[in-house]
Amino acid sequence: QQQQQQQQQQQYNLENARSYCTSEPRLSETETPPQRRKLSQRRPQPHAQRKSNAFLDVPAMHHLRVSDDDEDLDRLRTFSASKGGVINRGDSFRRRRSRSNSLAPISPIHPRLGGGGVGGSVGGGINGDYTCAQDEPQQQQPVEVFHVEMLGASGVGKQALIQQFRTSDCINAYDGPECDVAEQNISIILNGIESELKFTTGQQDNKDELEKADAFLLIYSCIDKESFTRAKHILSRLQDMDLIRTRPIILVANKIDLARSRAVSSQDGKCVACTFGAKFIEVSAGINHNCDDLLAGTLTQIRLKKDQNLLHGNRDGGSSPAHWYKSRSVVLASMKARQMLTWILGKEDSKFKNCENLQVL
Ligand code: GDP
Ligand code: MG
Repeated sequence: QQQQQQQQQQQYNLENARSYCTSEPRLSETETPPQRRKLSQRRPQPHAQRKSNAFLDVPAMHHLRVSDDDEDLDRLRTFSASKGGVINRGDSFRRRRSRSNSLAPISPIHPRLGGGGVGGSVGGGINGDYTCAQDEPQQQQPVEVFHVEMLGASGVGKQALIQQFRTSDCINAYDGPECDVAEQNISIILNGIESELKFTTGQQDNKDELEKADAFLLIYSCIDKESFTRAKHILSRLQDMDLIRTRPIILVANKIDLARSRAVSSQDGKCVACTFGAKFIEVSAGINHNCDDLLAGTLTQIRLKKDQNLLHGNRDGGSSPAHWYKSRSVVLASMKARQMLTWILGKEDSKFKNCENLQVL
């Protein structure tokens, strides 16, 4: 009897541990959480092309990747978000619509309801909660396409991030084949409304191209101080071109999985973000950390800013930039002072906290 009880307890513990992991993308129901894997089970994976052995080994997962190469299928990512945070509602597939038409008459093949179709929910969060009526985008409503420009030094992980945005599965950015697609469209249903985000990289010098963007993601690598400096330069340039006022900007610190090599602190990142009125988030494309928050947050920021612009008649005309911007050095000094206060009082300034919430303006 006692033994049976013990067994039950063990089972219960294991289940607890599993449900604890649900926010992370899971490979399969039966996958043992990595921290519980016995040492002997860990595969020694000699990687032929490993660049450096300074970091921990990550198991190769190419064989587990869900192939999106099927030409007829589009992946549709679904989230619900509120001020409290972002919930990944899973991915679904639908037959590809032609690129030229931006209406979305074809409803997605739902993981639960699409019985027998090509559909299938992959990874992601609480698929059990998925209700069709609530999340179904309104039929016949045109899907808005927003252009998101990714800026930053080379090698900070822009392409890796875009690849991770495409799926709830962890793409394992460490060893993946380098992918250099100039343009990537990602369909997202956020709070029941579908939008399409078109990501591009590498337009840093072309003002006309930059002006087409609806949002900027400024990426730096937290292990590369120079990339941080570069991000600051780009921010200044965008401000000088008066591109910041009416568009959301998110400063993104990537590669935070490499904690031991960190060269730029969160505080420094936040300080710069606040100086430019940008949002701030730390992510890792490598371990799929905060990537959903960044993706859904980008769309939320675009929607919020659009509403704000409509309200204040901003984008064209409106108040002069000179009026809107205080002197950069004054703002930076005040931010530094806040940072100091934060450090002394051991309590985070509300402004610093706010810049980390991508679900509010
Ligand atoms: P890009 O030049 O900005 O597009 O950067 P890439 O996406 O090509 O990435 C450059 C390198 O950084 C690649 O070798 C990636 O595998 C690696 N990388 C990208 N994101 C991460 C991350 O979050 N963590 C780690 N450890 N490596 C990453
Ligand atoms: Mg690259």
